[in-house]
Amino acid sequence: MRVLMIGPPGAGKGTQGARIARHFHIPHIATGEVLRDHVSRGTAIGRAAQGHLDRGELVPDSLLFNAVRGAFAAGGFVLDGMPRTLDQARSLERLGMTADVAVHLHADDEELTRRLLARGASGGRSDDVEPVIRERLRRYHELAAPLTAWYRLRGMLVSLDATRPAHLVGRDVLAALT
Ligand code: AMP
Repeated sequence: MRVLMIGPPGAGKGTQGARIARHFHIPHIATGEVLRDHVSRGTAIGRAAQGHLDRGELVPDSLLFNAVRGAFAAGGFVLDGMPRTLDQARSLERLGMTADVAVHLHADDEELTRRLLARGASGGRSDDVEPVIRERLRRYHELAAPLTAWYRLRGMLVSLDATRPAHLVGRDVLAALT
């Protein structure tokens, strides 16, 4: 099983991605986590990525692919947080990292902002603050439509309403994959 998670920040890609990974016994590769880990270890990739993460901007593709390449194993995966652009979707296809299904979680900006501010307030991530959240959501909306269209065209897209409680979304996610 090879799954891509697509959705705005705060939609629950991490929560649902982890659930899918547990269910199918496959690795959960969260690109944001991989990049934050590089930053906290102070690697060359982390030093180059840090400013982009702090500003809520996408890191350049060369850095991103260098960071996640090592995480891919043969067999299945849940790739969470990538692709975020059509170029990344094309690169994944070119590299043979194609998937069976793209799970698309959607929710409105008001709900997403509320969730991200709550996560920020409970000692979560430094990019969960108002101006950076706004930038991350703006960026997502700018790029999401062509990306979802790409996977819809390939018959791979499963779109789910992620405004509901996580356990209900999770039930639908697993139902769509089994
Ligand atoms: P996330 O944990 O998915 O919200 O990602 C946190 C940050 O990591 C993003 O705001 C970007 O700066 C960076 N990032 C994660 N995934 C990607 C990606 N596919 N392309 C570019 N930047 C990414």
